[in-house]
Amino acid sequence: MREIPGAWRRTARGAGLMSADGVASPTIFAEMSVLAAESGAINLGQGFPDEDGPAAVREAARQAISDGVNQYPPGRGLPDFLAAVSEHRSRFDGVTFDPATEVIATAGATEGLAATLLALIDSPDDEVVVFEPYYDAYAALVALAGARLVTVPLRWPHFQPDLDELTAAVTDRTRIILINDPHNPTGTVFDRAVLEHVVALAERHDAIIVTDEVYEHLVLDGRRTPVHSLPGARERTVAISSAGKTFAATGWKIGWATGPADLIDAAMTVKQYLTYVNGAPFQPAIAVGLRLPDAFFTGIADTLRRKRDLLGAGLIAAGLAVSPPAGSYFTVADAAPVGAIDADAFCRSLPDRAGVVAVPITAFVTPERRADYATLVRFAACKREDVIRDAGARLAAMG
Ligand code: PMP
Ligand code: GLN
Repeated sequence: MREIPGAWRRTARGAGLMSADGVASPTIFAEMSVLAAESGAINLGQGFPDEDGPAAVREAARQAISDGVNQYPPGRGLPDFLAAVSEHRSRFDGVTFDPATEVIATAGATEGLAATLLALIDSPDDEVVVFEPYYDAYAALVALAGARLVTVPLRWPHFQPDLDELTAAVTDRTRIILINDPHNPTGTVFDRAVLEHVVALAERHDAIIVTDEVYEHLVLDGRRTPVHSLPGARERTVAISSAGKTFAATGWKIGWATGPADLIDAAMTVKQYLTYVNGAPFQPAIAVGLRLPDAFFTGIADTLRRKRDLLGAGLIAAGLAVSPPAGSYFTVADAAPVGAIDADAFCRSLPDRAGVVAVPITAFVTPERRADYATLVRFAACKREDVIRDAGARLAAMG
């Protein structure tokens, strides 16, 4: 368990998002993408696809713009979009939500997370439990919401949590348990027993579960357990999704949140002052996407599975040790066998040494835990196969 001290101060500086003298720090993704653009290196850092998503979805957006869907949509989202989200949750997760009261549209998963955390955190004594390493926005949003981050480590190479450590982290101070499954950055898909344990702990301590489902259709091995489908979970879970990864449209920033009406109402009250509304012509387009046949959804996982295998083989051939991911865009590799001592320094030298950009796992952990992840590096597989092959060859030739 780790706390970020002083994270309750509700300013960018106080929350640690700027340096003490007020200098803004970009996210690791922005920083590494700039490095890739400047050096011409292959960008396996930031997780965005280099190919477009389904033509029907893109065409529906063009059509909506032509049809004049260009002004403020309703705050909660266009009714047909909300209906499509509800149908999608019933189809894939077996859980039904009332489109009128239990679904909202958000500006990507990021706004869904921000609105939910800001709405549900009450006091500086509230704690949010997350698995570590964690997606960078979690720590930032918890800090901005004025709560304390409590982390439970996921350890190389399997990255499943120890249930005793999880039990110890959740207390009556826990307001939210924040899960991301499949998990960024580790690529883990959590065992059903882990998620059942999360639900039991949330019930015992009356905590809310927030699940970040952005990789819900990118399960590559085995099966994912949708948390809200577990007994006792639906009434205390807000599930947050994104069109970005599923429909290869990370720049559209369309997301959605589902959950019981009181929790969704709370998130909505915050959302209306963050963005008010969002993405009018993109909502009908994503509704088309959400209603695509099952073959589309299994197809994107099949494609990514091939890319993951190609990336993993390339990393192994280059001498790195690999933790095979069961889901998400990402593969974590240990760069110690190729001489890395510090992942951050290794990733900064990689464009020059190999013409490849990757992200250090140390960017996703609390300073106290940095040593445990010192030589681990995240590579993204969501790129064209020729690009992944080229990156593997470059890493193998690394001097
Ligand atoms: N959560 C996780 C785990 C992510 O990897 C990302 C990046 N797609 C997001 C949230 C943010 O999603 P969006 O771009 O839809 O805001
Ligand atoms: N989710 C993507 C990643 O983890 C990119 C997120 C971002 O740039 N903020 O790489």
